[in-house]
Amino acid sequence: MPLAIQYFVDGVDIVDKVAMGHGKDQVFEMTDQHKEIPQKYTGPGLVDLQVNGYGGLDFNGDPTSWTPEVWRAQRDRMMQRGVVAALPTFITDAPEALANKVRAYKALLAEDPDLADFFPALHIEGPFISPEDGPRGAHPLAHCRTPEDAPDLMPQLLDLAEGRIALVTLAPELPGAVRLIESLCAAGVRVALGHTGANTEAIEAAVAAGASLSTHLGNGSHQVLPRHDNYIQTQLALDALHASFIADGHHLPPHALKNFLRAKTPARSILTTDAMAAADLGPGEYTLGAATVTVSESLRVSLAGHPGLAGSALTLDRGILFAYEHTDLDFDTAWALASTHPARFLGWDTPPPVTVRIQDGHFTRIA
Ligand SMILES: [Zn+2]
Repeated sequence: MPLAIQYFVDGVDIVDKVAMGHGKDQVFEMTDQHKEIPQKYTGPGLVDLQVNGYGGLDFNGDPTSWTPEVWRAQRDRMMQRGVVAALPTFITDAPEALANKVRAYKALLAEDPDLADFFPALHIEGPFISPEDGPRGAHPLAHCRTPEDAPDLMPQLLDLAEGRIALVTLAPELPGAVRLIESLCAAGVRVALGHTGANTEAIEAAVAAGASLSTHLGNGSHQVLPRHDNYIQTQLALDALHASFIADGHHLPPHALKNFLRAKTPARSILTTDAMAAADLGPGEYTLGAATVTVSESLRVSLAGHPGLAGSALTLDRGILFAYEHTDLDFDTAWALASTHPARFLGWDTPPPVTVRIQDGHFTRIA
């Protein structure tokens, strides 16, 4: 049986799986090391650059159902795990739908200004991404655009957000992308490369224009790539790019995570969850929007009747523990990858300290 690497794409695998446990509830384990996990830890609070939903709340769902109460409830759940700030992430959608979500987010902050402490800004992932199967991942093809096709969209979103868009993920190979990167950077927005099939030239042009992050590197990509000259290698090698990784054991097998962290170096690495609404709900079947998803015992998320991944149910505490246990990071560094590193990347101050108890594979905040 051939062992092609299956790179899952933001959740949904596009091509037939060969390796990584075809549709099985399986987390890859590396048993060549055993590390002590502290029972209690104090460190700067955790910051998540990419949260699509949490605890049943779907940031990509219908914003008319959003209320300050619902957002506060999920904020509180994340805070219980040591998170102090998160970027709600809106993925590819129709321009008017994206605008409506930005308006709804702003209206929530107007109604409850405290929400701005925890959800200070947005991450817009798309719609300027590759339309190709593989790089596009789970983003809807019908709404993929190029910056040249929709030159007014990002200025409109920036206007509506009034400074509360911190990060935009896009594919640099699209017509008009380099100019858009320049204008976003000039407006103080960080630009990430993701859901891209770009060649080296396009990636280098994006970096020269100010792009500074690779979003969930290793996911949102083709199943099969030229072995040396490919956009994962290029992005790993470019020191001007930080990279975020989804350390859930489903999106990246531990050996890939370990290699990526070594290649990118811990200093330029960030852990994120890319969590969707099933995050922190525990195993079970959930209705999210129009879809029914199953969350397995190992927190693998799949659509009912479909073996592929349908997003991450990862929480940031588990991501830290997974990265610590399965790579050569020490605990302080694994923690920093989810706290000071994302904060510094965004130009924020060091997050306020939190103290957590660590038990049964998760954190519980105690101070
Ligand atoms: Zn993505």
